[in-house]
Amino acid sequence: MAQAIDSDLAAFRARMAGAAVLTPENPDYDGARTVWNGNIDRRPAVIVRCSSAQDVAAALEFSRSRGLEVSVRGGAHSFAGNAVSDGGLMIDLSAIKGIRVDPAARRAVCGGGATWADLDGATQAHGLAVPGGTISHTGVGGLTLGGGFGWLTAMAGLSSDNLVAAEVVTAGGRVLRTSADSHPDLFWAIRGGGGNFGVVTSFEFQLHEVGPLVNLGLFFWRLDDGAEALRFGRDFVRTLPDDMGVMFAGLNAPPAPFVPQEHQLAPGYALIVVGCGSAEEHQRAIQPVRDEGRPSFELVTPIPYANLQQMLDESAPWGLHAYEKALYVPDLTDEVIAVFTEQLPRKRSPLSFIPVFRMNGAYARAGEDQTAFGGPRTSCYAFNIAALAPTAELFEDERAWVRSFWDDLRPYSSGYGGYVNFMNEYDEDRVRASYGAAKYGRLARIKAEYDPDNVFHLNANIRPKGS
Ligand code: FAD
Repeated sequence: MAQAIDSDLAAFRARMAGAAVLTPENPDYDGARTVWNGNIDRRPAVIVRCSSAQDVAAALEFSRSRGLEVSVRGGAHSFAGNAVSDGGLMIDLSAIKGIRVDPAARRAVCGGGATWADLDGATQAHGLAVPGGTISHTGVGGLTLGGGFGWLTAMAGLSSDNLVAAEVVTAGGRVLRTSADSHPDLFWAIRGGGGNFGVVTSFEFQLHEVGPLVNLGLFFWRLDDGAEALRFGRDFVRTLPDDMGVMFAGLNAPPAPFVPQEHQLAPGYALIVVGCGSAEEHQRAIQPVRDEGRPSFELVTPIPYANLQQMLDESAPWGLHAYEKALYVPDLTDEVIAVFTEQLPRKRSPLSFIPVFRMNGAYARAGEDQTAFGGPRTSCYAFNIAALAPTAELFEDERAWVRSFWDDLRPYSSGYGGYVNFMNEYDEDRVRASYGAAKYGRLARIKAEYDPDNVFHLNANIRPKGS
């Protein structure tokens, strides 16, 4: 059997001139199977580092003929480690990262394996941007397919709201261009339905004028001031222009030069306000935080958008043991704040981080059924409880803490199962709840058309209708 696979592999390798076909004896194999979450250690039988849609189709055909489970690697940031499986075939897109920007048409075409650092670098050369995530080493692929939110969400919507076309390789190996006019059902489904419908080898986005300089306001309060600060912050952000990006966070202050010595590495609460307009407008908008919020310290400064996109990178490096659970809450009510301030002091790892994204503005103006995105299209908060631990021992405690925090918050959630890109475990009920019954039903019908055998199931899985 092993010999049969070996000779098949040799023939497959010979056929795949443009792609690297890696197996355990290859020196690049261990690097290629490594994903962001250091708690994941899986050994696929074969890794195919593709360089084109045709390579992807050939890899899918090989996996089908050998009965190998398929995983797809974009930026490898899935907390669950969905990019890699034991004994399966990994379609590695990391070499498909070419980017073309057409500033006149305000369009960018981006390879399916690019990271946000790649895309931001190319678009910012023209003072343009696609709304992305908040950590630049995340993949454009997984983030966009599940929705995608960050600093520009209020101004310009989700990453997936800004997708205008994509090249998709289906489970059967067809290479399709999908857009509002071409396979519109598939186009609807990939804007929120995750990697369920095929391998996206290129994304075409509309672009927005952003920067190069934008304005950052970062404010920090000590643990003891948390409840008062969060109540103030909740009321204050309602006064902001609704195109400003807002995040609350529970975290340890970094040992950075702008942080006073006594607060360095101390846990507390942050409010971050990003504006893409003038520095004066931003100063006016954040002044009440200084006057009334009385933070322990602040950093208010113009910042290149590309640097803002990398500002949090060091808080989430590759290789830590990671686990997360998330949900949407309609508002930071006093009850939600009470849970936040009771639970934050219980984290043991200084690296664990609770980003709470404000979802409003352009995000909330998009229609509920405009895309497949799983989340309420009303102003709300996406509350993410993320454990990051340097050791397996500490990780066990942190994971228990995340679960208890999430259980306490659940009574105040919006009733949605949560953001599919912030899931570590994919209970079918929670995935269904993320989309709601009607959207899930439509996704299941489209899944049955494009992936009836559920080849792409290492994700927040939509089961093909009738299976
Ligand atoms: P991968 O693990 O490579 O892929 C994730 C899933 O998408 C897998 O199922 C994979 O098969 C599929 N996939 C990836 N690319 C493709 C493709 N081209 N075609 C088909 N399927 C594909 N999300 C936000 O919205 N905003 C944030 O600010 C944010 N910050 C994050 C910060 C960190 C440190 C991490 C770890 C995650 C963050 N996320 C954020 C969540 C992120 O959106 C998801 O983890 C997402 O799945 C990452 O995509 P990826 O391509 O890097 O990961």
